[in-house]
Amino acid sequence: NWDLILYVNLELVNKMSNRRFIVKEMLGQGTFGQVVKCWDTETNDYVAVKVIKNQPAFYHQAIMEVSLLRTLNQKFDPDDQHNIVRMLDYLSFQNHLCIAFEMLGQNLYELLKRNHLRGLKLKYVQAFSKQILDAMVVMREAGIIHCDLKPENILLAPSVATAAAVKVIDFGSACLEGKTVYSYIQSRYYRSPEVLLGYPYTTAIDMWSFGCIVAELFLGLPLFPGASEYDVLQRMMTILGGQPPDELLREAKNTIRFFKHVGIYPGNEAPSGLSSAYRILSEEEVEVRDSKRPKMGKWYFPHLKLDKLICTYPWNNSELSETEKTDRLGLVDFLKGLLEFDPNKRWSPLQALYHPFITGESFTGPYEPVPETARIPVARAAAIDHNPGGGHWL
Ligand code: ADP
Ligand code: MG
Repeated sequence: NWDLILYVNLELVNKMSNRRFIVKEMLGQGTFGQVVKCWDTETNDYVAVKVIKNQPAFYHQAIMEVSLLRTLNQKFDPDDQHNIVRMLDYLSFQNHLCIAFEMLGQNLYELLKRNHLRGLKLKYVQAFSKQILDAMVVMREAGIIHCDLKPENILLAPSVATAAAVKVIDFGSACLEGKTVYSYIQSRYYRSPEVLLGYPYTTAIDMWSFGCIVAELFLGLPLFPGASEYDVLQRMMTILGGQPPDELLREAKNTIRFFKHVGIYPGNEAPSGLSSAYRILSEEEVEVRDSKRPKMGKWYFPHLKLDKLICTYPWNNSELSETEKTDRLGLVDFLKGLLEFDPNKRWSPLQALYHPFITGESFTGPYEPVPETARIPVARAAAIDHNPGGGHWL
């Protein structure tokens, strides 16, 4: 019963002391408020406290963040094994909802910047991807859509032994699958085709953002840094080739902002010689429709297809070893399953988890995931470390 799980005990919030946290320094600032490093006088430890703006809309959205994260932490990840930030407590202070989280390190955008935006070694891209996917398996099991996955919302965690570890944070935009309220969600570079086009969305939108993140970790720069939604869409079409499927374009409510219908009625068929009943508008046509010039950002990777981009980056690949070349082909295949225009064909977190890029097997050819008939219980998914081969995990 979701309504019961979502119930937040506000009385408890009000009863809590107001003087528990001593503010030390600023960690981050966002639309919802600020995040500060504090000394917790009750536990004698540092914590990260997200102080939400004292306006009703932000307060209510933060209550949602608290309830979804509490559900994820307690019901779906009680032993803190799935790379999701731990919420320690929450309280209300002068109409600011304050949420205390475990103290984590830099976010992945800061890490990329520290690395001069040149991208990370494949083994780190692989390790981080696996951990993020692990969190996404759990989120999907809980029916929770994060709605804002991006490098800023993935944080380095205190690492176990020598291995680098990350955790997913910021459930401030999250919602429940089947109870989606907002249509303007996700940060633009990481926004999925179905959200751009205005089509009912599922946890698959997080997989799209995840694909963008994986590419960015490797490249050091965002894959689709569009200055406008039209620009983002154009970049997707250039780098990935193709366009969103006609079924999606036919049903989506923003299609007209980006595409011209060139189909033939009554069956809405594509004209002979064309594969689609829609074609993307030219810049001039967008300008006419939206009565303003579509903002076009700087092209980082002008007119390069994904495989070329990944396999030749950073353009002097002459010294690449055979293993590195194969691994990069594996990365391309992995990205293609995530950056799939059709949300129904896009891989689920569990399907992606068994890709050779993640399991560490040598890449031998396009990956065919096991079709998902039913959702596999989390406990069982978590217990599986290796691809047992033969395309069966049950
Ligand atoms: P917003 O909804 O405003 O984006 P976030 O929860 O994403 O808020 O936090 C904003 C920033 O604060 C993050 O990008 C990160 O750099 C920092 N931050 C958030 N939580 C933590 C934490 N637990 N430990 C350390 N830094 C954090
Ligand atoms: Mg954030």
